[in-house]
Amino acid sequence: MPKKSEVKIIFESIKDMPPLAVSLYTMDYNKTGSWRNVRPIIDYDKCTYCTICWKFCPEPSIDLEKIEVDGKEKFKPIINYKYCKGCGICWTECPVDAIYTEEESE
Ligand code: SF4
Ligand code: SF4
Repeated sequence: MPKKSEVKIIFESIKDMPPLAVSLYTMDYNKTGSWRNVRPIIDYDKCTYCTICWKFCPEPSIDLEKIEVDGKEKFKPIINYKYCKGCGICWTECPVDAIYTEEESE
């Protein structure tokens, strides 16, 4: 008998899957910004344009704008508050603490 960790479950169709919560809409439609109680704000004086926040953000909440810094092409992160749910990943992952937070007023 294989160990539990060696058992591979193969789902051949959606009917084989156990019940689970599934969004019927695309992330674009699902405006998760209404979930937020803390608002992340990028301090561009500290931002190094590493784009780590963009890579880790679980929603389509960080757009990148192409800019030029000291003659080099960089990508400036811009938070889209329609989708940002205030999960905290970006400000936790930012290597230079360039993202601070404010409590949502609404
Ligand atoms: S992780 Fe921080 S430093 Fe890097 S792009 Fe985002 S805000 Fe800027
Ligand atoms: S708080 Fe979460 S959802 Fe909002 S921009 Fe940061 S990582 Fe994305």
